[in-house]
Amino acid sequence: MAEHIGTTCVQGGYRPGDAEPRQVPIYQSTTWKYDTSEHMGKLFDLEESGYFYTRLQNPTNDAVAAKICELEGGTAAMLTSSGQAANFFAIFNIAGCGDHVVASSAIYGGTYNLLAHTMRRMGLECTFVAPDCTDEELEAAFRPNTKAVFGETIANPALAVLDIERFAAAAHAHGVPLIVDNTFSTPVNCRPIEWGANIVTHSTTKYMDGHGAAVGGAIVDAGTFDWNAHADKFPGLTTPDVSYHGVVYTERFGLEGAFITKATAQLMRDFGCIQSPQNAFLLNLGLESLHVRMPQHCKNGQAVAEFLQQHPKISFVRYPGLPGDAYHELAQKYLPQGGCGVVSFGFNGGRAAAEQFMKSLRLAQIATHVADARTCCLHPANATHRQMNDEELVACGITPDMVRLSCGIESTEDLIADVAQALDTI
Ligand code: PLP
Repeated sequence: MAEHIGTTCVQGGYRPGDAEPRQVPIYQSTTWKYDTSEHMGKLFDLEESGYFYTRLQNPTNDAVAAKICELEGGTAAMLTSSGQAANFFAIFNIAGCGDHVVASSAIYGGTYNLLAHTMRRMGLECTFVAPDCTDEELEAAFRPNTKAVFGETIANPALAVLDIERFAAAAHAHGVPLIVDNTFSTPVNCRPIEWGANIVTHSTTKYMDGHGAAVGGAIVDAGTFDWNAHADKFPGLTTPDVSYHGVVYTERFGLEGAFITKATAQLMRDFGCIQSPQNAFLLNLGLESLHVRMPQHCKNGQAVAEFLQQHPKISFVRYPGLPGDAYHELAQKYLPQGGCGVVSFGFNGGRAAAEQFMKSLRLAQIATHVADARTCCLHPANATHRQMNDEELVACGITPDMVRLSCGIESTEDLIADVAQALDTI
């Protein structure tokens, strides 16, 4: 019998056997002990699976990654120390110096920095396209050395909904995978793999953890991209890895396991960025209620967006659940049960009004965070996106007066009352 998503949230990944702990055990150990060096040698050669050093793998992490893998409908998954690390690994696993990626311009500021500046210093170039660009503009962004296409299901903070099928079709026509950051919608509201995405990433710091307790990330491979059919583009997966005893990842681990095994064996080994098993345990507690929390986040987001939309001091509201929103149609297709609890809006009084509003909120707290149980808010032009000039801000869908309110799971009436009293002070 196929499980429903709520059952996977609660019980996925870890199914204890007879007389085993009911809760996922925290393996708080850096290392594993072996009786013979020969046995350990086999692990190093990837001839046998097993654990030897927590910088590469840890059973607590693997149990939680397996749950996220089931939730997304993938074939293999791994946890990383943060969402940034997840996106960096997902891209760098298949693209490096001399390569190029195409990315939606409406993405999280940290990911924009990673692609536009840090990875550029590593020799990897990125062409940004608007999420609602024409097919011709999307096509023109590709180059012979393009290795991946990247976008966010619901962009933070622009709240643009990615046309996953369209971006997947363009990526596949050029023989490259589509990587989708599914942080904001979570697999409860959208499963990008079902729409053609090949790799899904998460900042688990957000809704998955859900309590603002633990920074973390995850990468899920759909196992659907045929690296062998485009072997010239992806030699790292299809030719011997000299840094790992000549293993050919696609040969040894098949399409279902090659991507994640390479990211673990090479990138975790060399960069670290492993999630601590303590954080993985906390993440798992969050995942157990994800399917119960997401509908309340969405209910609050919708109610606050509707309230703001009719308020005379508000100049615009972005929330894909609002009829008339630029992304409402795409939201109906990809997010029929709701998207997320994040609402972005601007003020007739401009930047000063935004700052006054933020100061006056009582329930909602100012925090560089989104997507946890407690409502919080941020002024992106002053915080996450402050390194961008006005032109770059506009390309990301942000204006200087824009506030991002992340509705938690408090009672809807109290949130609206808080927003209303803060608006009264402007
Ligand atoms: N992706 C998205 C959509 C995000 O919103 C964020 C952080 O806000 C990240 C990635 C980065 O995640 P982390 O802060 O866990 O490194």
